[in-house]
Amino acid sequence: MLYPLIEKKKKVHIVKDLNSCACGLKYHSDLVIKRKTLKQIKFVEVGKVTCKKCASKLFSDE
Ligand SMILES: [Zn+2]
Repeated sequence: MLYPLIEKKKKVHIVKDLNSCACGLKYHSDLVIKRKTLKQIKFVEVGKVTCKKCASKLFSDE
């Protein structure tokens, strides 16, 4: 299964919505998300996530 992931602060996070990651980290500080930021989001296997908070959020929601 593929998830939208983004690399921030040398960790790979799960993108939750247009502002934040599953762990609560805001992955951009713009008023409206920029195309440049959107391009950083990649759909990859969830196994690539290196942020432990994101990974635990994902599995606790199930
Ligand atoms: Zn995270």
